[in-house]
Amino acid sequence: MTRLLLHACCAPCSLEPVRLLVEEGFEPTICWANPNIQPMAEHDKRLDELRVWTADNDIPLIEAADDCERWDASVALLGADRPRRCRACYALRLSEACRVAEREGFTHIGTTLAVSPYQLFETCNDVLEKLARRHGLSPVIRDFRPWYPQATARSRELGMYRQNYCGCRFSAAEAAIDRARLRDERKAQKARRSASNG
Ligand code: SF4
Repeated sequence: MTRLLLHACCAPCSLEPVRLLVEEGFEPTICWANPNIQPMAEHDKRLDELRVWTADNDIPLIEAADDCERWDASVALLGADRPRRCRACYALRLSEACRVAEREGFTHIGTTLAVSPYQLFETCNDVLEKLARRHGLSPVIRDFRPWYPQATARSRELGMYRQNYCGCRFSAAEAAIDRARLRDERKAQKARRSASNG
């Protein structure tokens, strides 16, 4: 088994990557490094869920120090510019995970962010690859997105807490706008159908 430090954004997103990586012969240790999650009550809720799940499944968990002030000073100022903001956010979180991996003697590093179709997949991989090399680690880059529906179903079955936005206050607003747009589209479709049915 190869020891792997797996940065995790939350418990539901960890389910399938952990299963698949174990099948591949890795021995994952989860690393929490998420100073992006706002508000703090939400941050703590996601971390608590991850603590419970890792403890129940005998998966080691390392909690990195979350420097929320640093996130605000270096990422939040990019505001609504999502590509730049998310790149900076991935860099902050994954550099902390790489630092932990190096300190704890891991050789491989990955992230559960690669399961979510809502993340900027290429950007995240690019950031992970560059940071891993800088820290002398091998990046484990996988596309877990095809397993996202399964992760959603399994986390529901397990009664896990599931959030409906990525983490920062900008993503909470963006997700609310998206949901409102989808609601409006559904209403418009329904109205068109009733009109055509006479
Ligand atoms: S949307 Fe997600 S990845 Fe992007 S800045 Fe916000 S918390 Fe970070």
